[in-house]
Amino acid sequence: MKVNIDPNSGFCFGVIKAVETAEEHLQRGHELLGLGEMVHNEAELERLENLGLKTVSIEQFPDLKGKAVLLRAHGEPPSTYRIAAENSVQLIDATCPIVKRLQEEMKKAWQSGKDQGVQMIIFGKPLHAEAIGLNGQVDNNGIIVENLDDLQTIDARRPAHLFSQTTMDAGKFEKIAEKLREMYTETGQNLIIHKSFCRQVSNRMKSIKEFAASVDVLFFVASKNSSNGKVLYQTAQSINERTFFISGIQDIDFQKIGIDWGKVETIGISGATSTPPWLMHEIARLIENAFDLT
Ligand code: SF4
Repeated sequence: MKVNIDPNSGFCFGVIKAVETAEEHLQRGHELLGLGEMVHNEAELERLENLGLKTVSIEQFPDLKGKAVLLRAHGEPPSTYRIAAENSVQLIDATCPIVKRLQEEMKKAWQSGKDQGVQMIIFGKPLHAEAIGLNGQVDNNGIIVENLDDLQTIDARRPAHLFSQTTMDAGKFEKIAEKLREMYTETGQNLIIHKSFCRQVSNRMKSIKEFAASVDVLFFVASKNSSNGKVLYQTAQSINERTFFISGIQDIDFQKIGIDWGKVETIGISGATSTPPWLMHEIARLIENAFDLT
């Protein structure tokens, strides 16, 4: 038996940049506060907290005058920058450049269409930090949709832009776009579709399928609140039914899984864009130890 780590898994470049920015500050011995969970991964968050990172909320800004607060890769609405300026909080902006570009594109589309009653449709998760940041660019007038049913609130007699939160599933986005195209063909109104999902995530859809097919058993490592973690796990599971979602080694019970491990030749480890590579390596090592493979 051997244990393989998916070479295309782990931190995306936006998260790498944010984590490196945090580490640079912490290594210089500076106090560092982070607005919201720095990454959607408990183990990585704990590692950063052990280095000195403290998580704060926007409500605490009035008590943080003169302090430095790091903004994570997901991006923030304009109100965060305003509240920081009002309270003399210094921001270290680690927003992913892809998210930043998307925010600017949405803002521009909103500014040029709002007087004509444009609808800004965002395919995303309403409570996700990135979706909140995107909605802020359109003065919180965005219509956040998660599925086809949510399109009932769209008025196809008014122009619209469709955007996607970067980590959403490209296939589901296409279904939403298709339905909207139908609705807008009927009215002849203007609909502009922006395929704004991140390639770092959509490329992984293809690679996770190949990786899942190449192993006998797959442990997919992510936090339950990782948006792309859920999508990638479901994709892997659709290819290899012996795919198991875990947050850490504590979630693996080899007996309970009910597999004849003697017949397993390859165990695969993969993860989301928020899963730290060190965690996947640690899990691989612990599995090797469990089966005495070292
Ligand atoms: S998933 Fe893409 S857009 Fe989101 S942080 Fe990573 S690189 Fe940036």
